Amino acid sequence: MSLRTGNLEIALRQAVADGLLGEDRPVAGFVDVRGVRESVAALHEAFGRVPDVLHAFAAKACPLVPVLRLLADAGMGCEVASPGETRLALDAGFAPERIVLDSPAKTRAEIREALALGIALNADNLAELERIDALRPAGSASVVGLRVNPQVGGGSIGAMSTATAHSKFGVALRDPGARARVVEAFARRPWLTRLHAHVGSQGCPLPLIAEGLATVHRLAEEIDAHLGRRQVTSLDLGGGLPVNFADDTVTPTYADYVDALTAAEPALLDGRYRVVTEFGRSLLAKNGFTAAVVEYVKDAGGRRVALTHAGAQVATRTVFMPESWPLRVSAYGPDGTPKRTAPVPQDIAGPLCFAGDVVAHGRSLPELAEGDLVVLHDTGAYYFSAPWAYNSLPRPAVYGFQVRGGGVGFATVRPAQTVREVSAESGLAQRDALLTGPAAPSPS
Ligand SMILES: *Cc1c(COP(=O)(O)O)cnc(C)c1O
Repeated sequence: MSLRTGNLEIALRQAVADGLLGEDRPVAGFVDVRGVRESVAALHEAFGRVPDVLHAFAAKACPLVPVLRLLADAGMGCEVASPGETRLALDAGFAPERIVLDSPAKTRAEIREALALGIALNADNLAELERIDALRPAGSASVVGLRVNPQVGGGSIGAMSTATAHSKFGVALRDPGARARVVEAFARRPWLTRLHAHVGSQGCPLPLIAEGLATVHRLAEEIDAHLGRRQVTSLDLGGGLPVNFADDTVTPTYADYVDALTAAEPALLDGRYRVVTEFGRSLLAKNGFTAAVVEYVKDAGGRRVALTHAGAQVATRTVFMPESWPLRVSAYGPDGTPKRTAPVPQDIAGPLCFAGDVVAHGRSLPELAEGDLVVLHDTGAYYFSAPWAYNSLPRPAVYGFQVRGGGVGFATVRPAQTVREVSAESGLAQRDALLTGPAAPSPS
């Protein structure tokens, strides 16, 4: 058994013993604190010979303040893409100059705030640069970049492929006249000093990402040559290192990523450009798991179904796109010890009111029974941290854990949402609004 699974099983047993999982707490997310620190260390080590690099964690992959604070403490910066994520990053204690704002549709208010605080921002398009022209205070400390789409093509998951011909992101570089317009945009703005690309996420092969980033490097050289001065001083390479969801092995590694980039363009990481990275999934996915109680088991049409509390509210992508986002599921007894009986095919379903709410179809697992636990592995990024509010299911609790010696300690990252809180965010304070407000029928 791998160390990762060993630690998971120690944590699971103790979580049951401590009452973090059980009858009244049917689902929770767990984050391995030491694992997160080790992943950050591996990232820094892989880029060790790049003199000036800011590794900005993509907040959307785990938008939880204590996790962001842990990452800040471990030496990360933070990439944000919405007003909410900017707030989380500031609240987590990231210095503004270590925050990079990439919202794809920035409002004037978002731009103004970033420029006032000194947060770096990457314009998505040339029209956004014009907004920045109008809003940028003289002497703003913000590094400003322009996102480009190298249009090198997509990976195996269309929705995760950002460098396709028609992608909504960045300036589409291969479109007629685009390169000239980009060069001109830099020529007119001496404060525009960064190029940004995020070639893709899960499903994008490393050579494709590397080809896209080599294109960005060539463009930087072209801009500076055209201007006859050194204006582009940093390259923001985005994130997107794929994660292996099939077993505990970390592959590809950050070292593989650096090798692929260097193979595609030897000068890319030679230190002439300051480098920013924006990894999300690869830092957190394997450092988290979801555990849920089996509420009932039943048979339907000759098929065994386990009804659990882990469904689309915590595994949205897996439920809606099962071929693209398969998850490993393991079976444990009510006390958190592994079930070892002979495997039988079972559907692992969730608690939501729609038929497709199944996280694993016909999966071979030891026969589950009421009160057992299921674990969804590698769900530390984009799963329980970004729940879906369907059926008004409360957001599950998230706990950090750290295995020390044979024991394990827990810290609450996010308490489970209460039903009162669900009601409050569903308009409770405006309860009578439609009876007494302007929408009410006027008395005739
Ligand atoms: C989502 C995103 C990332 C992070 O992607 P991962 O696949 O989680 O590493 C980085 N940069 C941008 C612009 C993104 O949209």
